[in-house]
Amino acid sequence: MQSLFFKVHRFLAKVEREPLVSWGYKYLESLGLVYRNCHSRQLSTVYLPENMSQEGSGLSLKEVLEKLKNIAPLTLAESWDNVGLLVEPSTPKHVKKIFLTNDLTESVLDEALLCQADCILSYHPPIFVPLKSLTSRTWKERVIVKCIENRIAVFSPHTSYDSVQGGVTDWMASAFGSDSEVAPLTLAKAHGIHTHMIEIAFPNSAAGKSTITEFQTRLHEVISGSGEQTTYDVKEISISETKMNLPCSALLLPQIVKIFHEVKKGSEEEHIRIMKYDEIPQLHCGAGRLCTLKRPITVSKVVELVKLHIKLPHVRLALIPGKDMDALVHTIAICVGSGSSVLRGVKADLYLTGEMLHHDVLDAVHNGSHVILCNHSDSERGFLSTLAVKLGNEFQQAVQVILSREDKDPLVTV
Ligand SMILES: [Zn+2]
Repeated sequence: MQSLFFKVHRFLAKVEREPLVSWGYKYLESLGLVYRNCHSRQLSTVYLPENMSQEGSGLSLKEVLEKLKNIAPLTLAESWDNVGLLVEPSTPKHVKKIFLTNDLTESVLDEALLCQADCILSYHPPIFVPLKSLTSRTWKERVIVKCIENRIAVFSPHTSYDSVQGGVTDWMASAFGSDSEVAPLTLAKAHGIHTHMIEIAFPNSAAGKSTITEFQTRLHEVISGSGEQTTYDVKEISISETKMNLPCSALLLPQIVKIFHEVKKGSEEEHIRIMKYDEIPQLHCGAGRLCTLKRPITVSKVVELVKLHIKLPHVRLALIPGKDMDALVHTIAICVGSGSSVLRGVKADLYLTGEMLHHDVLDAVHNGSHVILCNHSDSERGFLSTLAVKLGNEFQQAVQVILSREDKDPLVTV
């Protein structure tokens, strides 16, 4: 009896020590990944493949950013968004630990500091509305100031990860298994980093050749200063003319045009032509998803699958007037986070999102779509576990990936 008592006691003590083991961690465990405490205080947990040492050799911040952008190019982000590197240390940064969170709150930042994180990936951008000061007056300013003081880089992928194939929205769609067809509600369009092609003609005279040399010298300075990767070609296209073709970003375009006007000698034969690339639809990428089930399921089953997927005991449901939980669902329109604008007007049996305004929910059910709401960040956070696995593969042994434990939706059902 006594030994059973001690076993139960030890079990309860363990549960009490680790009350907030999230389902994300259990998911990682199911993938054969183990967790080790990154600090003697059990605030946070490092997940590492079993054969990975605690301390990786690290990568430069530049290399880390390239790998983060490999998951999804930033050009997939919505135009209103603020994605990419938001805080950069002033001297070269070596990254040994990257810390993943949905929201960079003050308590999450304290956790990242305890873990000695070098880089924080915050899904939601901690700087969105431009800051007018960096003081201790607001929590958002305090967070950024602390990151700067501690030389922590901050990167936010936000809607680029929503849009990309295999990103946050596809993660949510995977709640309904592989027996369904999934397509973006709106296809993303992008033109990559290079938005323009510049074509410059130079005369083959001695003066023309000296202009080309001067132009190229100045061009290399601008390109290397920007960190942009571009190659160009220079070709003699006739006895009298040489042409340069140079792809560039919208950011570099004005600087290159300025150089051209500064180096040209006023000859009529030197001229510049600028062409803008068309945006190309990006297959399988874009805002929202329409999930078409091969076999219809009941509203009740959809609710069950969603709860299972996001590991929460509650969701909120609005039924179409006159329908009940046994109503059949064939199509599900999904938008993670706040879904009103993306889902408005979409024809689907059910809308699944994090949050919607009252009047938008009323419109949806009266227009023939049931609505399931599962809290804004709870509709997004689960993807971080999938991302941790992807990044683990990208970084191999070099960088530790840490999932925040403090990060949670501020709303709970009581
Ligand atoms: Zn969101």
